[in-house]
Amino acid sequence: MDPLSTKCKCVDGDKTIFFCVQRAAGWCKAGAEGLGYWPLSGRTEADSRAGRKPTVIRAAIRPKKPIVQSGCAFGTAKRVVPRVPCNRTYRLSSLKVFALKDGSLFLYKKCKKHQEDKTMMDATKYAPGYYPVPAGYDSWVKKDHIEKAPAWCSVDLRDVNQALIVPMSLAEKLEFFQMLVKIGFKEIEVGFPAASETEYEFLRTLIEKNMIPEDVTVQVLTQCRDHIIRRTFEAVKGAPRAVIHFYNSTSVAQREQVFHKSKEEIKKIATDGARLVKQLSQEYEGTFLFEYSPESFTGTEVDYAVEVCNAVLDIMEPTPDRPMIINLPVTVEMSMPHVYANQIEYCDKHLKHRDSVIISTHPHNDRGTGVACAELAVLAGAQRVECCLFGNGERTGNVDAVTLAMNLYSHGVDPKLDFSDMPGICATYERVTRMPIYQRSPYAGQLVFAAFSGSHQDAIAKGMAYRKEHGEHRWTCPYIPVDPHDIGRTYDADVIRINSQSGKGGIGFVLEQNYGYNLPPKMREDLGYKVKNVSDHSHKELSASEVLRIFEESFLNKNKPLSVIEAHFAQVDGITATVTLELNGQRKVVTSVGNGRLDAVANAIQSATGMEFHLENYSEHSLDEGSTSRAASYVGLTWGDGTVTWGAGTDTDIIVAGVKALVSAINNK
Ligand SMILES: [Zn+2]
Repeated sequence: MDPLSTKCKCVDGDKTIFFCVQRAAGWCKAGAEGLGYWPLSGRTEADSRAGRKPTVIRAAIRPKKPIVQSGCAFGTAKRVVPRVPCNRTYRLSSLKVFALKDGSLFLYKKCKKHQEDKTMMDATKYAPGYYPVPAGYDSWVKKDHIEKAPAWCSVDLRDVNQALIVPMSLAEKLEFFQMLVKIGFKEIEVGFPAASETEYEFLRTLIEKNMIPEDVTVQVLTQCRDHIIRRTFEAVKGAPRAVIHFYNSTSVAQREQVFHKSKEEIKKIATDGARLVKQLSQEYEGTFLFEYSPESFTGTEVDYAVEVCNAVLDIMEPTPDRPMIINLPVTVEMSMPHVYANQIEYCDKHLKHRDSVIISTHPHNDRGTGVACAELAVLAGAQRVECCLFGNGERTGNVDAVTLAMNLYSHGVDPKLDFSDMPGICATYERVTRMPIYQRSPYAGQLVFAAFSGSHQDAIAKGMAYRKEHGEHRWTCPYIPVDPHDIGRTYDADVIRINSQSGKGGIGFVLEQNYGYNLPPKMREDLGYKVKNVSDHSHKELSASEVLRIFEESFLNKNKPLSVIEAHFAQVDGITATVTLELNGQRKVVTSVGNGRLDAVANAIQSATGMEFHLENYSEHSLDEGSTSRAASYVGLTWGDGTVTWGAGTDTDIIVAGVKALVSAINNK
């Protein structure tokens, strides 16, 4: 019998058998000294004493050239394993080696029954930890959009600041505060003044330097603890208005693991806090509003959370003209957003003094659905959202104020927040928080108004043209949910990006938007291949000026080997052209007729050189606006062998521009 089998551990409901090599360290002289790899060889001591042959693994994992030969116990194939670094797994046929950071090594293989299980992660470790409400609290699902902006409260200066690697300095906080005011936040949580000297100083500066505008209310956070509440009132002394936001944690996990208190005892923390807040608000001068949060609401039984909130409300006795905020935070996202929305609707229906209560939401983003939580919560009755710019904040961040506001905007609802200078806001934000904004962050990221792929570029270019032609007011452009101009961004650099995935539409659009060249569709295709080729070979994105350079080098005003020195026209038998041309340095003068001037020049060139082509495509437009306008002409030629070449010409004289385009097309043969 394999001695290790007695040490086998079945986990994951019998699905996986782990063979812990470390437990059999007796047969590994090197012990756990290896840096993530282990020389394994020989036999167990028991084996040795009993004179048995090595039964389990004849294994050697050596530095540089490690080998594991699995033995009879597993019956697996011989296989060379690379040096085993930390926390990596290697599959040896049905056997896996798993090296842990502490240097120990696991070997495991799947039971036959569960060979199909591919994952090493053990999901039995987890289970939903939230408390869904009973059926009947989901009438919000019938709504399909939010009709008006909720009240916004920025918690950047508190929730974000406490989560920064380098917290903001006083000057940076003041600058950030002013930016928030400018964006339009009317409620701004400024910190935890009782907990930090900087936050205390920051709040005092705002108050003493009169920096809080008339219509802005600052909010301060405090735990439900006697001395902290008292110090908080000291800190807000003299503020024109302030929201005193007190909280205590009510979740099952916190009650059991952190506070070791019963439901009644936890409720008493909240009500004691409420009593003191109320008492001090009467002692101190100033206009105070109140907010209570049953912190970690998402891990709390909802009926219990309501019970605690109602007990607090009974003490605070809000009125419709002086309502109280009940904030139901998604301290940690634990459920899908609709579960949270149902919880909000439940609270909406069960909170007392409802006409004097403002239900607030404060989503974090652990499951990546913070925005959905906030939006569904608003559908379900939340009237206020606590949020942060660009989703910054503890762990995965708080819900993103920019996305929420711009989502409303894109539905035609005034968000009451102004992001018309998104680039400026982004720059200030990145500077003072020292946190980059992800390039694909909705509405704000560098790449969100960029299109690389040809079909997208083509559709956007057509959408833009459609808008112009039809004088559309409503934004309906394909692929771009909002007009980049609305948030201070531009099309030229932003919308269409040129790389090897790009198509003729996008490339044409870039040339037209930036330089005014409106190429005929077939010519765009030709340019498209050339641009793609360059991008493919250089493996990089091309700027508009690089696209222009490729266009100019490939098509524009090319006068070698053929050039036309002079052309004179007369109206005889149609148009007669007398053309002086030079081919490979040899000068000739020829006269020829045609239907038009360009046709006559083309015929003259053909008769002088013996070339055979057909003028397939001609178009022109003026290039610059005003009297000194230049013309741009484009010519496509079909040759005797069926090939097509293109050329472009520019000149203040439209005839000359046409001749230059013709000559360029010829020179491209
Ligand atoms: Zn938070």
